[in-house]
Amino acid sequence: MYHLLLALWIAGCSWLVAASAAAACAAVDFAAMPLPQSDHRPEVQALLATYPDLILSQDGNAVSRDGKDWLPLGEDREITAKQALVDAAPLDQFLQAYPLGTSPASLAERRTPYFDPGRFRNAKLFEMLWFSSEAEARASLVGVPFTGLSGATVTVTSHRGVDCQLRAVIAGLQGASENVRAVFSAPGGGFNWRRISGTDRLSAHSYGIAIDLDPELGGYWRWSWAVEGRVGDYDNRIPPEVIDAFETYGFIWGGKWHHFDGMHFEYRPELILHSRISARMR
Ligand SMILES: [Zn+2]
Repeated sequence: MYHLLLALWIAGCSWLVAASAAAACAAVDFAAMPLPQSDHRPEVQALLATYPDLILSQDGNAVSRDGKDWLPLGEDREITAKQALVDAAPLDQFLQAYPLGTSPASLAERRTPYFDPGRFRNAKLFEMLWFSSEAEARASLVGVPFTGLSGATVTVTSHRGVDCQLRAVIAGLQGASENVRAVFSAPGGGFNWRRISGTDRLSAHSYGIAIDLDPELGGYWRWSWAVEGRVGDYDNRIPPEVIDAFETYGFIWGGKWHHFDGMHFEYRPELILHSRISARMR
């Protein structure tokens, strides 16, 4: 009975979409998901709606998963983007609204130095949401084939349905043009327990929530002649429909960062939802 009710409920939610005929997997469409209605600040609304197992403290200033281990969200404070790169409280992760879509205006925001929405990460929150050890992350991994686009497979976590979200991206691009398929042909990889190049901070790849498409086509600021904080234009060859498909299913694109990482897509649905909530408030 429970399963029947669940099936009926899912059928009534058009923003939950079957990502693959082969796998019983219902992905969340974050572009269509109804926005939360609450009095909490937009950052908190976005976190609670995208990670429903998070509990908010009575005073609204901390989150927990078990009701015992509480993580302060941080305070309203003036912090520069440069500081936030190394010292982000959970709320600081939302310092800059990630620009949704592929209009010229949303692609142009990265021209501002240190406009890097998504590069601000609080390690404790990531531990709470994802993993605190490599072994824990490894135990959750699955391969997701780029069926219909290329013969390649990338490894991501199955925690919180990230694999299902990625399958939905792939399913949404079926029948796409040759230049779309090309960026999936030689992916740079998915899971990789490692530090971000040039820093001591864990990369999002460590949690199995990020994938790199073709490094040749993506581009990465550290591999160019760019100087940190003064990165100019770059030759993006990731087609807009790829960016849109990823954003729909909760992945942000590193090609929108001043310090661009054009091959990089990262599962950060809280940033997608936060942008939608912020747009509603304007
Ligand atoms: Zn990457």
